[in-house]
Amino acid sequence: MILTKECNLACRYCGGGSDTPPKEIQYSLADLGAFLSQDTDPTVEFYGGEPLLRIGTMKSMMDQLPGRFVLQTNGLHLDSVDPQYLSKFSTVLVSIDGREEVTDGQRGRGVYKRAIQNSGLVRKRGFKGDLVARMTVAQGTDIRENVEHLWDTGLFDHIHWQLDFGMFWEAGEYTEPGIDDWIARYNSGISSLVASWVDEMKRSSRVQGLVPFIGVMKSLLSGEPSKLRCGSGIDFFSIMPDGRISACPVSVDFDFSIVGSIIANTPGSLKDTEAVGEPCSSCDIFNICGGRCLFVNKAQHLLRERGYSLICATVRHLVKELGEARPLVEVLVREGALKLSDFDYPGFNNGCETIP
Ligand code: SF4
Ligand code: SF4
Repeated sequence: MILTKECNLACRYCGGGSDTPPKEIQYSLADLGAFLSQDTDPTVEFYGGEPLLRIGTMKSMMDQLPGRFVLQTNGLHLDSVDPQYLSKFSTVLVSIDGREEVTDGQRGRGVYKRAIQNSGLVRKRGFKGDLVARMTVAQGTDIRENVEHLWDTGLFDHIHWQLDFGMFWEAGEYTEPGIDDWIARYNSGISSLVASWVDEMKRSSRVQGLVPFIGVMKSLLSGEPSKLRCGSGIDFFSIMPDGRISACPVSVDFDFSIVGSIIANTPGSLKDTEAVGEPCSSCDIFNICGGRCLFVNKAQHLLRERGYSLICATVRHLVKELGEARPLVEVLVREGALKLSDFDYPGFNNGCETIP
């Protein structure tokens, strides 16, 4: 749920998020509790804006609402969350884009140090849940170098990344030239990351927590078709500050996204209200990709020229590289060096979309 639309950063790719009123929660905790109590297995994810600008509201909700809790934060105020509340989170996702100059270049000076220090602090304060570094990958980012940097900090259980939406958006407004060259470099970085991910499995019988690789490999190993992995419009919804419900937390200002409200709907009545359409529904790798992003699919008319195919070029490359790595992974599983359950992640929808 969106705890507030206010944010204490103005990242280059976001600018502080949606500005449409109301910015603050209008519904009562009782109404929210009544809505959630009809869900047999609720996960409450605090999102913003920056949710830790409303720590008091968050704590009241954690005291009174059922379910498991997830926090998605820029990390600047993580040091203000008491250990007793930290311990209630299943997952904390900290937005950080990689090395200091990359993170600060997108998010502002000093952000990297605070996010890293506070991630270390939550560990010292006994947080035992899943600490995820959540990267936004802007055009120009060296994916291998920055993923490895975050992994090497030793702070995070998992690293997840998603490509900056803006680079595929309307040409002229946000986009920068040279995207084809950068996608070629990004894809080659993915090839080399996959190779070192598999090398690490061979060396240590350990699956490094790189979320996009784990999720796709699991689908390849099991053969089970994947739905849209973020779950937007399926079993993952965003409660907006006025109590309306959006299929996706990012597309709250788009009519297609509004599917109900906590007053008029039950959680069950929202299930499967949205689904991606073409070109995903007839794509040959739809069962593995899942459609990547409902927002992009519904708003594809707003993408830059070739926007969809540029995005899909990255998905296809990722699936191809992991497909080629699969026989080796299967051997490691057969030999007992790895277990199929090593690829069971996430155990519940924790806000990682899996497909970058
Ligand atoms: S690869 Fe592209 S077209 Fe295919 S399912 Fe994924 S997002 Fe849709
Ligand atoms: S991946 Fe899912 S949650 Fe993220 S913007 Fe797209 S639809 Fe929304």
